[in-house]
Amino acid sequence: MTAISNTNPLISVVVPAYNESQGISHALSQISGILSATGLDWEIIAVDDGSSDTTFQKLSELSSSEPRIKALALSRNFGKESAMLAGLEYAEGDAVIIIDADLQHPPKLIPAMLDQWRQGAQIVHAVKRSRNQDSLAKKATAHAINKMISKLGGINTNNSSDFKLLDREIVDIIVYQLPERQRFFRGLTSWLGFNEVSLYFDVDNRLDGASKWSFWSLLELSITALTSFTSLPLRIVTFLGIATLILGFGVATDAVISLSNGKAVSGFATTIISLLMIGSFIMISLGIIGEYIAKIYEEVKARPHYLIKASAGIRKKNRPPL
Ligand code: UDP
Ligand code: MG
Repeated sequence: MTAISNTNPLISVVVPAYNESQGISHALSQISGILSATGLDWEIIAVDDGSSDTTFQKLSELSSSEPRIKALALSRNFGKESAMLAGLEYAEGDAVIIIDADLQHPPKLIPAMLDQWRQGAQIVHAVKRSRNQDSLAKKATAHAINKMISKLGGINTNNSSDFKLLDREIVDIIVYQLPERQRFFRGLTSWLGFNEVSLYFDVDNRLDGASKWSFWSLLELSITALTSFTSLPLRIVTFLGIATLILGFGVATDAVISLSNGKAVSGFATTIISLLMIGSFIMISLGIIGEYIAKIYEEVKARPHYLIKASAGIRKKNRPPL
């Protein structure tokens, strides 16, 4: 195991950043201070996820005064999942830590994560004990999504965050063996298994600026999380079909009995209601199937996860081309 065999391990810290120019220098100086205090070799890979502000200029300046800080600029906003993957692909460390750029993930937890790694943990999950600043709506949505994913997909992402330490072995698996386009990092890392440990932290308030997640981007991530970990929604569609079929037989039998007793079957309202209900069942079902087909289409196209337009302090791409 890398943690034990390597006498002078290198620690990489991956920081995805989207329009974080206000707070990025402060955040990186905090992180680098904590890393230096551990006495280990370190590097920070900050990934500018297509920011429209001066995030990358800030990162390049930091990189020219501190070569251990390296930066990548993606060609546009590819989303946090792709930015994290880019960081993982370029990180050279024996252990890689992923942390937000807004200091909502407390860097002071890093030494404790490294301790767990030294003791043999290959994945250290930082789990949220509280969600300080989040609105009630966001807390409720996050709770509902996590519940659904853990119930349906059989993986526990409750209160988990993207703040994690990964051993080199795990990073290589994620980079080389999990090439899927539809990514849900929290789900993937809990799907892996291996030797995992959880540490708890309180979510700090955002350093500067506002959350980058809109309602739609969260919805998109939730659909990705669901479709990439379970096909249960498709099965529900089948069961729904069977249930309506049984109901249909019941109503038909009832109509035949009524007719044979000489009673005409009335019910304009019933006809309209059932038409509308069944019509919407069919459309919703098509929508669910469509979601899966769209995801398959994304995978088949196999476009790159991200494109890089600039870098600072990066020597070479860690990952050989596939
Ligand atoms: N982020 C990113 N790309 C995006 C959205 C967010 O790289 O498209 C980064 C962002 O800069 C931050 C982290 O992901 O470092 C978490 O984002 P944010 O703080 O907005 O999310 P929240 O804390 O509200 O979940
Ligand atoms: Mg945040």
